[in-house]
Amino acid sequence: MMLGSGCLVAPKSGSAAAPAVLRTPKHPVVVASANGHPACVQTALEKILAGTPAIDAVVAGVTLVEDDPNDHSVGLGGLPNEDGEVELDASVMDGKSGLAGAVCSLRRIKNPSQVALAVMRYTDHVLLSGEGARAFARAHGFVEQELLTPEAREIWLYWKSTMSDKDDWLPKTGKDVPANVKAFFGITGTINCCAVDRDGNLAGVTTTSGLAFKIPGRVGDSPLIGAGLFVDNGVGAAGSTGRGEANIVTAGSHTVVEFMRAGKHPKDACLAACKRIVESTRAPHLLRADGKPDFNVNYYAVDRQGRYGGAALFDGGSFAVCDVKGPRTEKLEGLFDR
Ligand code: ASP
Repeated sequence: MMLGSGCLVAPKSGSAAAPAVLRTPKHPVVVASANGHPACVQTALEKILAGTPAIDAVVAGVTLVEDDPNDHSVGLGGLPNEDGEVELDASVMDGKSGLAGAVCSLRRIKNPSQVALAVMRYTDHVLLSGEGARAFARAHGFVEQELLTPEAREIWLYWKSTMSDKDDWLPKTGKDVPANVKAFFGITGTINCCAVDRDGNLAGVTTTSGLAFKIPGRVGDSPLIGAGLFVDNGVGAAGSTGRGEANIVTAGSHTVVEFMRAGKHPKDACLAACKRIVESTRAPHLLRADGKPDFNVNYYAVDRQGRYGGAALFDGGSFAVCDVKGPRTEKLEGLFDR
């Protein structure tokens, strides 16, 4: 048994070391990626203060963003795969029970975070994929709908028609093409939200439409426990946004939690996980001319004591936080200036 794991069962034999004294937070804290400001973090905190379990509170928070057609990184209005189908990934992890649930490549259901919660609660599994995940969601009363909003369709059509001048797709011109359409090319997007309640119980959720215009069936880090999300009730909770592939091969969120277990402040644990990504990124196509990664990854973390922080490979980002002082954004610590 590792000290600080929150386990109350004594080891069979061996170390006579006294169990670590776990301090609980003075007040609940919710952190999220920047798109969680202010509604997601505020809603989650209010629910926790009202006595809702942290896991339900964070899912309620991200549901608001999944439902927002103007956020093109998750749920309804999320950017589709290369065939124009919105495919969603999500995971939840509950520190108190030690259980997790997840779905990947889920189509036509706008709240994958709620389906992930149902997987956690109503199955003996962690991850359901594709058609199986959709059938499970339907069985639990989730309603199917078209997730590709008119604006997301225009962005996708513009991407498709400008990919090559050797095919027969011609770009539309004029008012149909959103002015900011190019801003969506090559971007990713996700919402992660983690919380600690007054008793020191931790929970987290990560939900996404994944990489815009991905190969159908591509699964990112968000639904993978240990990559896009990890929670240990004795230590802390961490989640991630950004290039999922880099996070998968370094088990990024698990790495953050392990650095917190070793005693690091959440912000420093996030920075240490960023360094791990830099060390493990060696493939030439992932490196810029100056040798730094040509992508970004962001981490967000909160520990059992209520300390929180976030970091990214590159400076310039922010994250959302809400505690008794109210919702606000704070700076993500960057490993590199640019
Ligand atoms: N991490 C997500 C993925 O790779 C995308 C993102 O957060 O931007 O699917």
